[in-house]
Amino acid sequence: MFTKILIANRGEIACRVIDTCRRLGVQTVAVYSDADAHARHVAMADEAVHIGGPAPKDSYLKGKVIIAAAKATGAQAIHPGYGFLSENPDFVDAVEAAGLTFIGPSAKAIRAMGLKDAAKALMEKAGVPVVPGYHGADQDPDHLAKEAGKIGYPALIKAVAGGGGKGMRLVEAPGAFAAALESAQGEARTAFGNPDVLIEKYIQQPRHIELQVFGDGTRAVHLYERDCSLQRRHQKVIEEAPAPGMTPEMRAAMGEAAVRAAEAIGYAGAGTIEFIVDGSDGLRPDRFWFMEMNTRLQVEHPVTEAITGIDLVEWQLRVASGEPLPATQDEIQLNGHAFEARLYAEDVPAGFLPATGTLAHLKFPAGARSETGVRPGDTISPWYDPMIAKIIVHGPTRDISLTQLASALDATEVAGSVTNLAFLAALARHKGFAKGEVDTGLIARDLASLTEVAPADLTVKALASLGAAGLATGGAPFAGFALWQPLGRKIRLDGIDAILEVTGPASARITIDGQTADCRLMNGQWWVNGAPSGGRIVLTPGHVSIFGRGAHYFIIPDPLARETSATGSDLTLSPMPGLVKAVFVTAGQAVAAGDRLAVLEAMKMEHTLTAARDGTVAEVLVTAGTQVEAGAALVRLEEVAE
Ligand code: ADP
Ligand code: ADP
Ligand code: MG
Repeated sequence: MFTKILIANRGEIACRVIDTCRRLGVQTVAVYSDADAHARHVAMADEAVHIGGPAPKDSYLKGKVIIAAAKATGAQAIHPGYGFLSENPDFVDAVEAAGLTFIGPSAKAIRAMGLKDAAKALMEKAGVPVVPGYHGADQDPDHLAKEAGKIGYPALIKAVAGGGGKGMRLVEAPGAFAAALESAQGEARTAFGNPDVLIEKYIQQPRHIELQVFGDGTRAVHLYERDCSLQRRHQKVIEEAPAPGMTPEMRAAMGEAAVRAAEAIGYAGAGTIEFIVDGSDGLRPDRFWFMEMNTRLQVEHPVTEAITGIDLVEWQLRVASGEPLPATQDEIQLNGHAFEARLYAEDVPAGFLPATGTLAHLKFPAGARSETGVRPGDTISPWYDPMIAKIIVHGPTRDISLTQLASALDATEVAGSVTNLAFLAALARHKGFAKGEVDTGLIARDLASLTEVAPADLTVKALASLGAAGLATGGAPFAGFALWQPLGRKIRLDGIDAILEVTGPASARITIDGQTADCRLMNGQWWVNGAPSGGRIVLTPGHVSIFGRGAHYFIIPDPLARETSATGSDLTLSPMPGLVKAVFVTAGQAVAAGDRLAVLEAMKMEHTLTAARDGTVAEVLVTAGTQVEAGAALVRLEEVAE
């Protein structure tokens, strides 16, 4: 076993790797950018090396600097985590040339699977079923359109170098092909520097089922499947293992295909074979097809760890240090059911825009596994993936595990940024999902109900008033209750006008809009009008948060303190922090309402900003390549003369 390794990553996955290293007595070296100097992974590691500026290209993607840090600190190996350099074969070559061990597959195996077209061709040869389609070299638009016609519509265009759901377009009918191709190629060129695409048959009622594999360079085993069908725009939201409705025949067929795929490329370490499954008629062994292989540890690996009891990072370290595979196929048992939910700082009502903020309050549920890279007071910066944590539960059955997930999400508290927590909780309670009726279209079909937030009711408003009055936990403020008992105290919150009278040592009467809430604190919980409120009051500077009532109610005590956004109708503002990828207009140019002004990229998504009205561009305030904050002015239109 190694005595010291360097982790070429940040956030939750760096922390996750350090956890296992500590348990195995392996020393750890963290690397960090300017934005991460005080990050959790830096604090957890035994040593840390500063590697550059906040943009990934200036730090976490600087292979040479990272290798130099490993040499300087005496690390013997480098763990790449996921994302960043984890699937970069040139980095693997450089690590090995420096006399260090890369904790992952060979550069050759990564290259074999790096491009989706080549990987499909290779898998076809190895006898693994692949999605019917065209993955040849001819990229002529007419030729591609002809191939799509042959496969039939709906068809899917995919960037061969794609990842994270980027560069993918569903085409419903031939007429839409040309435009979809152009936009897929454009996105692929900016994101991956490679515009090439392949065409696939679009599988009906698709389910994403992937197999965790592990190889020693010659032989491979699988650690069962994960179902990742709950997706939004091709990105995973909640994952589970095993897959609902899985049959022994289907599992045997998929496991065998996955092992064959891994062995065909002499795979070493942890990897994932992703299959698309036609779920329109249950799970049938002749209805799954290879999509791609991810040659790294996967974000959702904890659900596999939960059902197998195996620490995948431990296996990675042991196999990379020269040990044989720690278990044979027969020894790998499946036990119970696990779910993982990805908690993100994102603005769901605004269309899931990535958000940033300082996490003034952060509490993870007891009884669940939480993987996180942040602590209370840490910041979600615009530079990286806005993931706050992964919440993982494991129970004896799927039903029990799903109930555990719902409770765990209810018990999670984040203040300081908007999050997708209420959305995740709504998913955990979705009736079809509970029945195991999952396919990749579920979220899109039910988006309206899944993202609906109940307005603050009397109970929420009463709890917020108690919080604002400093009475959240009873105690000291009540000691003087007699002093102001006779007087109703006015509480003004954003959207709430309340009169609060303290009526006893742990009770208050609150009147809001003519309704009365009799509040009583019992065993640490506020009861309202005779019923336990279920709500938890959390105070952070300038805000009162109410958790546990289905949504996170984030209330500003003084309505005047609310930020007044300077949204002049002439200004196009950035709706989120991000990188300006392109600007399409120049000063003096005439635009019509709906015309593209600029493209903004925030992590994995591109957002097109359009003109709100007809007019003339007065000023362009940014250039492509600029990092902007939320609310930054991008383009100004000339005032319209009255
Ligand atoms: P999975 O979530 O199944 O592990 P993904 O392809 O969604 O696989 O990506 C895994 C991680 O890799 C993401 O969480 C992210 O950190 C990184 N990543 C992948 N693609 C991109 C991308 N296009 N831009 C930025 N980060 C990416
Ligand atoms: P990425 O590299 O971006 O992860 P994938 O090829 O793994 O790209 O596809 C991402 C997602 O897109 C899948 O999980 C699935 O939901 C959907 N998808 C991919 N291929 C197909 C297909 N042929 N038919 C239907 N859905 C598909
Ligand atoms: Mg994928």
